[in-house]
Amino acid sequence: MSPDSATPRAENACFTIHGIGVSGGIAIGHAHLFHGMSTEVAHYEIAGHDVGREQRRYDRAVKEVRDELQALTDDVLHGPASELAPFVNVHRMLLEDAAFSEAPREIIREQRCNAEWALRSQLDELTAQFGDIEDEYLREREADVRQVAERVLAALAGSRRRLPVKPAREDAEMILVARDLSPADVILFHEHPFAAFLTDMGGATSHTAIIARSMAMPAVVALHHSRSLIREDELIVVDGNEGIVVVNPSPAALAEYRLRQNQERLAREKLRQIRSAPAITLDREPVALHANIELPTDMDAVRESGATGIGLFRSEFLFMNRADLPSEDEQYEAYREVVEGMQGKPVTIRTLDIGADKALDGQENLAENPALGLRAIRYCLAEPRLFNAQLRAILRASRHGRAQILIPMICSQHEITLALAAVARAKAELKEEGVKFDSQVPVGAMIEIPAAAIALPMFIRSLDFLSIGTNDLIQYTLAIDRTDDAVSHLYDPLHPAILALVAGVIRTATRHGKPIAVCGEMAGDVRLTRLLLGFGLRHFSMHPASLLAVKQRILTTDLAGIEATVAKVLRSDDPDRIAALVDKLNA
Ligand code: PEP
Ligand code: MG
Repeated sequence: MSPDSATPRAENACFTIHGIGVSGGIAIGHAHLFHGMSTEVAHYEIAGHDVGREQRRYDRAVKEVRDELQALTDDVLHGPASELAPFVNVHRMLLEDAAFSEAPREIIREQRCNAEWALRSQLDELTAQFGDIEDEYLREREADVRQVAERVLAALAGSRRRLPVKPAREDAEMILVARDLSPADVILFHEHPFAAFLTDMGGATSHTAIIARSMAMPAVVALHHSRSLIREDELIVVDGNEGIVVVNPSPAALAEYRLRQNQERLAREKLRQIRSAPAITLDREPVALHANIELPTDMDAVRESGATGIGLFRSEFLFMNRADLPSEDEQYEAYREVVEGMQGKPVTIRTLDIGADKALDGQENLAENPALGLRAIRYCLAEPRLFNAQLRAILRASRHGRAQILIPMICSQHEITLALAAVARAKAELKEEGVKFDSQVPVGAMIEIPAAAIALPMFIRSLDFLSIGTNDLIQYTLAIDRTDDAVSHLYDPLHPAILALVAGVIRTATRHGKPIAVCGEMAGDVRLTRLLLGFGLRHFSMHPASLLAVKQRILTTDLAGIEATVAKVLRSDDPDRIAALVDKLNA
């Protein structure tokens, strides 16, 4: 599809779109539209008895686009960009035309081909006819036909597809505008940096959002129509704090945002002054502040943040954006780089947490409910060779510093037993081969499934340490898909059930003398720092970008002074009162 296939509208129109700000900060730059579909579409034959099913798949995609366009019409009619309505109507009419609603179904039947190919063939047919049209107005409708076809192709593809990101202009700040981005897509921004990104889909604690925060890259998701409203190269302001996107800002608005951008920069520079100060409360209680990383390339940010350890190395990112799996040696080099880089400070390497919204290349997750499927330790136990290679690599790296192994998504004693047996097996192999490693490497588990939090005493004795993954703990406790913007407003770390679970896990771990950390997004949310301190937490792990703000809050906290208010939070089951008490803690 042509790269400039946004919905036609008045040139340089200034308008604002609202979404969910998932990564703070302000970016000003030029839009680069990512179109999920290329003109290359798959072509495959289908069996005669599958024709009906393929036609229904096509119908579903058309319906999805019909709903999308209906929603877009409603939005533009009631929004500041109402002049766009006639253009959206043209797309709706085109979609209802037999050329779209019927012809591809016929092609599926006649040629026994997949729906994408049928639509592609029909598009070729239609665009060939446009070439012969003399009327300029009608000829211009070719772009509309392409855009409608692109929408249907995108709907056929679903939200998961790969992103080959290459900024077109290196010299300016670029802002990526996409329908959806996977965590694997965003991690590529290390190589092709964008100033910010916008997506039409997505939730606040999806891994995509988490990586944006860890890269301190402003991001707004759940914009619904950004990709069709914004044009290639337009100047846009992204306010990741408020979830606002201003397209073609007026000179006054631009000046205001530049001012705020500068203020934020100054505030960040000021925070840097406490970089090497120890994190200690006013009543002299020390607190460990560790960093979460995805790749060894994050180590510069870790050093900048003054983190005193790595509390979560999301090792699965070593496995993404590649056709093959990283070998044991390649993993060893990556873990070694981080362990050595931390110079004797602890490095907690989480074993592969693949599944749900993080897929390996070529392993499209076909499960009905991937977040409840073969994810994390479940996947590793089902793939013992792959798990063994990773454990061996971590153990080999352990002799270069202080490594710890963290097992994600533990739910039952049986899984712990199997995981610990796998560690013992990897150790025995290395010993047999005469390879050096730290035989005392601590093995811990993530507490991120409600069952594990509730039944913690069941397996706590088998573990050396624990880390609470609040992102998944909230997802699974409140039954909210982290990646689904339709329910992201229900994602609530202050829900009484979440507070009871988090406080309970910290209490149980402390009683058993087991080190306990929080490594989910709650740890990096400065609004929750005092609450977690009041729960007894002394070990936080977060993306480096928020570490200094959390440290500053710790430096100004008097533990004795917050005790009574924290106790009231835990006794309350009234959300408004809980919010008011948390505000009081931060006053
Ligand atoms: C969590 O679930 O809170 C966590 C830290 O792990 P992830 O976000 O990678 O699932
Ligand atoms: Mg998790």
